[in-house]
Amino acid sequence: MAKAIEQLLVLQTCDQEIRRFRKEQDDIPLRRQQIESRLSAHQEGLAQAERKVLETQTFIKRLEGEIEEGRKHILKLRDQQLQIKSNDGYKALEKEIAVTQSRIRKQEDDVLDAMEGVEAAEAERATRRDALTKEQARVAEELKALEERAGGLGGELERKEAERTALAAEIDAVWLSRYERIMAKRRDAAIALVEGETCGGCHLKLTRAQIVDARKADTLTLCNQCGRMLYLAL
Ligand SMILES: [Zn+2]
Repeated sequence: MAKAIEQLLVLQTCDQEIRRFRKEQDDIPLRRQQIESRLSAHQEGLAQAERKVLETQTFIKRLEGEIEEGRKHILKLRDQQLQIKSNDGYKALEKEIAVTQSRIRKQEDDVLDAMEGVEAAEAERATRRDALTKEQARVAEELKALEERAGGLGGELERKEAERTALAAEIDAVWLSRYERIMAKRRDAAIALVEGETCGGCHLKLTRAQIVDARKADTLTLCNQCGRMLYLAL
């Protein structure tokens, strides 16, 4: 194997690590967003549960107001009964009292049902609140770890880039510039291992001559298909 290929393989590993670090760095805002969005889903769940409690309580208050009005109405009707002279008029008032009483009973039943609803809604709210608190702790922990990683990444990237500069300085300029051109195009790898009769990069069949050339220490052999530098493992 050509010495330059050996050096370029080390450089390639270094470049791949740099790429991985950069990708990880670029992904941090998205990961932060994903972690935080879990919190907003929980917050929305709690807000919904709180609305449900409030709505049910408002409904009960309205019913209780109506019951109170109904009772006052009955008292008024009873007063009227005391003053009325005609039997028919008295009966008509009696009927209206009965209708109002029956409506009040129905409203009282509704209040009891709604109170059960409030209890259920309050239980749901407590569950949601608990879930949110737990999620907040998890999210805070994950965000902290993410920020720590983000801080560490900068340093690691700097070290890797310094390592790369030192490695590149040792490599023959012609081979290096060829490598860099291919790497810019291929991104994942510029050098491919010959695997049997195929290129390890694009997995297409190589010619006999290419395989023979790839074995030579001083010859730069490129894959006809993907353009990667070829080398044979010893
Ligand atoms: Zn290829």
